[in-house]
Amino acid sequence: MQLTTTPEDETFRTAARAWLAANVPGERPPREGKAAADFTRAWLRRCQQGGWAGIAWPRQYGGQGLPPQRILIWYEEYVRARAPSVLDGSFVALNHAGPTLIACGSEDQKAFHLPKILSGDALWCQGFSEPDAGSDLASLRTQGVVDGDHLVVNGQKIWSSYSDHADYQELLIRTEPGSRHHKGLSWVICDMRAPGITVRPIRNLAGVSHFAEVFYDDVRIPLSSVVGPLHDGWRVAMTTLGFERKTAAMGLQFELGVRIEDLIALARPRAGTALAERLADLRAEAAALRAMTYRTVLREPVTPSDGSMMRLYFAELAQRIFAAAMDVLGPEALLDGAWSHDYLEAYSETIAGGTAEIQRNIIAERVLGLPRE
Ligand SMILES: Cc1cc2nc3c(=O)[nH]c(=O)nc-3n(C[C@H](O)[C@H](O)[C@H](O)COP(=O)(O)OP(=O)(O)OC[C@H]3O[C@@H](n4cnc5c(N)ncnc54)[C@H](O)[C@@H]3O)c2cc1C
Repeated sequence: MQLTTTPEDETFRTAARAWLAANVPGERPPREGKAAADFTRAWLRRCQQGGWAGIAWPRQYGGQGLPPQRILIWYEEYVRARAPSVLDGSFVALNHAGPTLIACGSEDQKAFHLPKILSGDALWCQGFSEPDAGSDLASLRTQGVVDGDHLVVNGQKIWSSYSDHADYQELLIRTEPGSRHHKGLSWVICDMRAPGITVRPIRNLAGVSHFAEVFYDDVRIPLSSVVGPLHDGWRVAMTTLGFERKTAAMGLQFELGVRIEDLIALARPRAGTALAERLADLRAEAAALRAMTYRTVLREPVTPSDGSMMRLYFAELAQRIFAAAMDVLGPEALLDGAWSHDYLEAYSETIAGGTAEIQRNIIAERVLGLPRE
């Protein structure tokens, strides 16, 4: 599938390419900690000053209000220019929290938070998963008890990405006493500097602390920070996760196309026939992923199974590409650092955002019509 563009689209592409060429930072972004958060804030600020903030957000909320076709072009140019990965400390703010506030938040919540997200003044993290509530998110137990005009929150979240330097968290908690499963939950804005919050970073396989456990010990959150009606958090959370199915991950998906070309360039002096065939297959798969992305983004409506098919294909392809990189580079991969780091990080792709097994369950039930679990 090819993207058919108009002359106006191509003018837009030229402007995006020129701005990115002049503004993408030359240095590699720091991988963790305050330095990574500062880098992200500075990059968001630069995008805003250049008129490229919130390209998928409506204009009335400070975004660019671009139609899907232009968003695709932006991300094609973005990865081509090797701009900072979209999966950094800005991901939740730009792709989850902001769009959720736009869809479900009060006017006060929008007026306070949305400008701070676009300017890089507020980074967000996600607090959904718990030690016993990941795939089965509705079994979460972190509790918020109404006390006057506040909720008093106690419990624990885990795997909260970039929470160590985030300013706010989209926090899903159980607020209706005695409720079970997806009933009685609330989606709340949690100020990460509130007294009673402890963030304990977790080191991953690649030796980097991207995510953390977050503990809540009598944390007081104003009821005015509940997004949507109290106890209606499951609906709001599904709105949040719905944004992942469309535009949120396209930068990552296109990035794989750039990485396979980089790998082919590295392999060229050393490739034998078997390696060349493997790389050619991977290039074809990256093209297939790009076509799936075009199809999903340009087609309405997007269903959960569209998101699952793309997420699964992306995750497994990323693992295949970085495994091939290890075979191309051999021990040299350890000297370079970047490829071996990405190889180790890619293991988490079939866990984050819903595991491969869960995506296969969704595809089996909703696309293939197999019996429910
Ligand atoms: C890099 C990374 C970043 C993350 N960032 C965040 C974040 O910012 N915020 C956040 O809230 N969470 C985050 N997560 C958590 C992520 O959403 C969960 O890890 C994921 O949903 C799986 O949950 P779990 O780890 O509890 O595994 P479990 O749900 O306990 O699953 C364990 C195993 O059982 C399998 N399994 C479970 N149920 C079924 C079933 N019904 N059928 C078949 N197999 C099943 C799973 O596939 C898996 O192999 C992140 C995870 C990773 C890896």
